[in-house]
Amino acid sequence: MAARILNGNAIRDQIYGELAGEIASLGAAGIKPGLAAVLVGDNPASKLYVNSKIAACGKLGLASFMLTPPASTSTHDLLALIELLNRRDEVDGILVQMPLPPQVDAKKILDAVNPAKDVDGFHPVNVGRLVAGKADLVACTPAGVMEIFRRSNIPLEGANAVVMGRSDIVGKPMALLLLHASATVTICHSKTRNLKDVTRRADILVAAMGRAAMVTPEYIQPGATVIDVGQNVITDREAAEKIFANFPEKIEAFRAKGSVLVGDVHPDVVNVAGAFTPVPGGVGPLTIAMLMSNTVKAARMRRGSHVPAAAGGRQ
Ligand code: NAP
Repeated sequence: MAARILNGNAIRDQIYGELAGEIASLGAAGIKPGLAAVLVGDNPASKLYVNSKIAACGKLGLASFMLTPPASTSTHDLLALIELLNRRDEVDGILVQMPLPPQVDAKKILDAVNPAKDVDGFHPVNVGRLVAGKADLVACTPAGVMEIFRRSNIPLEGANAVVMGRSDIVGKPMALLLLHASATVTICHSKTRNLKDVTRRADILVAAMGRAAMVTPEYIQPGATVIDVGQNVITDREAAEKIFANFPEKIEAFRAKGSVLVGDVHPDVVNVAGAFTPVPGGVGPLTIAMLMSNTVKAARMRRGSHVPAAAGGRQ
């Protein structure tokens, strides 16, 4: 039987619906949550990401501020910009789009963001709060994956959860969130031995490696819930035809466009998994939704703690 599709676009729309109520009650108290995006240089992928975040702000009625220092900027100048944004009252969230140019000390920049405005959840204070189970602002992609579980009624308590990848932005916070939800968590990485033996024990498998279609059906326990965080652009025709051998419409789309987006999970996994997130339209939409949610939450915590949460609004 084909797996149940976990539709990230539908879940995003549900979250946006709830946020609209929360934004309205903040608005009634004279508060318009605002997100400042710092985009350094002109990396086309970074521009695309930042533009879609700014567009989401517009759609929801949040204020947005785009700061675009040149690629030649220094750590010193960026620190001054972050300080300015930390002080501006109408800025509730600050996001610094990665990667930064090599001459910039990225860690110093991220650490300079006021933790109360750290809507990406990368600051050590917010990471520490996550470890302690007291998180307010959590990294957006793993927070979005938790929304998928919650809103799709996928039980986590006591489940064997395997996270493939241990990055600071996805794998580690994902594992902590699953642990706090009382799953039994295993984290895999590039040095893990007998990877398939580990992943085949997973009731919940989260793939976040950046390895196109690596997770083939033999990695999967039949019936498992498979979350595909990976986003890999394939431009090689042979590779696309091999991965999508059983999906002629995808090969057609590749021929028309010259590229195709593929996750870390092989499309054939649909025949083994119990439920899975598609790429595109799975985890991706939730990442931006949680950035919006974090911005609203940051505004409420810093400026609107007196405003009652709207029905359905999340703290
Ligand atoms: P990353 O920083 O490159 O980390 C990749 C992790 O995967 C590392 O921990 C690495 O292990 C592990 N890994 C790599 N190859 C492996 C293998 N063959 N077997 C087992 N583990 C392996 O990547 P990231 O930033 O976490 O992103 C991961 C993927 O998610 C990328 O495709 C990225 O584009 C995507 N992503 C999507 C969203 C979204 O909104 N959907 C958001 C963020 C990221 P080591 O630590 O040992 O090197």
